[in-house]
Amino acid sequence: METKKLRILIVSPEVVPFAKTGGLADVTGALPKVLTQLGHQVKVILPKYKMVDENKFHLSEVKTDFPVISINGKNHKISLKNDNVDFPPVEYLFMVNDEFYYRDELYRNRTTGYDYEDNDERFILFARGVLEVLKNLDWHPDIIHVNDWQSALIPAYLKTIYTDDPFFKRTASIFSIHNLAYQGGFPKSTFDKIGVPKDLFYPTSPFEFWGNVNFLKVGISYADIINTVSETYAVEIQSGPEFGYGLEGVLRNRNEDLYGIINGIDYDVWSPEKDKLIPHQFSPDDLSGKKKDKELLLETCNLPVSRKDVPVIGVISRLADQKGFDLLSQIADQLLSLDLQIVILGTGDEKYHVLFKELSTKYPKKISVNLRFDDSLAHLIEAGSDMFLMPSKYEPCGLNQLYSLKYGTVPIVRKTGGLADTIENYDPANGQGTGFVFKNYSAQELWETIKRALKTYENIETWVRLMKNGMNKDFSWEASAKKYVEIYLKALQKRFKV
Ligand code: ADP
Repeated sequence: METKKLRILIVSPEVVPFAKTGGLADVTGALPKVLTQLGHQVKVILPKYKMVDENKFHLSEVKTDFPVISINGKNHKISLKNDNVDFPPVEYLFMVNDEFYYRDELYRNRTTGYDYEDNDERFILFARGVLEVLKNLDWHPDIIHVNDWQSALIPAYLKTIYTDDPFFKRTASIFSIHNLAYQGGFPKSTFDKIGVPKDLFYPTSPFEFWGNVNFLKVGISYADIINTVSETYAVEIQSGPEFGYGLEGVLRNRNEDLYGIINGIDYDVWSPEKDKLIPHQFSPDDLSGKKKDKELLLETCNLPVSRKDVPVIGVISRLADQKGFDLLSQIADQLLSLDLQIVILGTGDEKYHVLFKELSTKYPKKISVNLRFDDSLAHLIEAGSDMFLMPSKYEPCGLNQLYSLKYGTVPIVRKTGGLADTIENYDPANGQGTGFVFKNYSAQELWETIKRALKTYENIETWVRLMKNGMNKDFSWEASAKKYVEIYLKALQKRFKV
């Protein structure tokens, strides 16, 4: 049976290649392209941040006449730009409001390190604006697919202030949660700004969370279908506060409508055969380029290149508690006394900046610490490292372990969320497996697992086999995109009984 061709709007606060702070941008950059290849019509919308390079992407104004949007009595104007490609497979739309979006960072003040105080208003405007944009363009989507708290109000608007609007009478909503720890929590006063009927705020209502407002809860409560980015994480977030961050009960209430779909990888961007950001391409059949990339990585990072092949462990990450750096800090001295080198790329919590700066001062020949966002270096680390470390406390999906597999960079991961779903523990008895996996969140287990990886590295033939096990895995988007189409159809069925 042929699948119905859908019109899909993907709404995301960040999208590769325009604006990125984490894995969400990779997902909303790649999925739309694959959906169009499956025959669906897709548009993507995000705010026009300062980071979005107008000239590079040839942005131009779309002629539209939007009504002003009032937030708590203050009127805000929006306008719209697009990427102006004549026959694009995907059309990218950018919502413009310079007061709200033309800032140095996407979500937080670079100087203070704290979230912008008006993040509630910024993303209320975004959510309201998206629906007005659709009406203005007279483009009726079957599906509005929203992502994370920044767009989570849209499913609620569709079922409250726009519920009688004939324009949306055939539109269903999907809400993807990429990380449950980022919830968009605001004080009660934010409720009035949202602009839905006053009687919707009461204890345990979708708009109320312990006396305050929680955008994620709103999205979970109102979306027709909800999903998160791996099957294991979909189970974990319902299991208790450790993963559910207080929303486990709300998620359990929606259990029948909650799915886990693992993210895919855009192999046009992340594969060692095609990667334009690395100097030496390579493949499972010819790994010689990887050795050269390793040398270049060490030179770039001011680490000595030894004649003996010392293993290099790469880390690319937001420096947040989630990512397991407290475990790493407990074993750092032990680890750096071994014959290995570590390259770290990341930004985030100040305490980890301090920790890693201290380590690089103490062990300048062993560890290179790069506290910035640097896409080119990220690609070089994937290509030039031997192992990739991801000891996460929790991990909704995780992308870097998947990139690592493709680049023959063997992942060392904790068995949680998407890491549990994508990395198979290496079994020396039969040579099967793609990485090194530990179960409990403990520094001791991490230490033993790294030692196991280092021991295996000593045997070059075994190691190359392990690398190739990973390089031959396929995590391309096509299978996952088809699963998204299935949940889009479920959402339509649920909403319209079709
Ligand atoms: P999360 O979304 O939790 O940050 P993921 O593993 O899902 O983690 O995705 C992280 C993405 O961001 C990957 O594409 C990774 O390469 C990229 N990334 C993270 N930190 C940096 C950095 N400092 N420089 C370049 N890329 C980074």
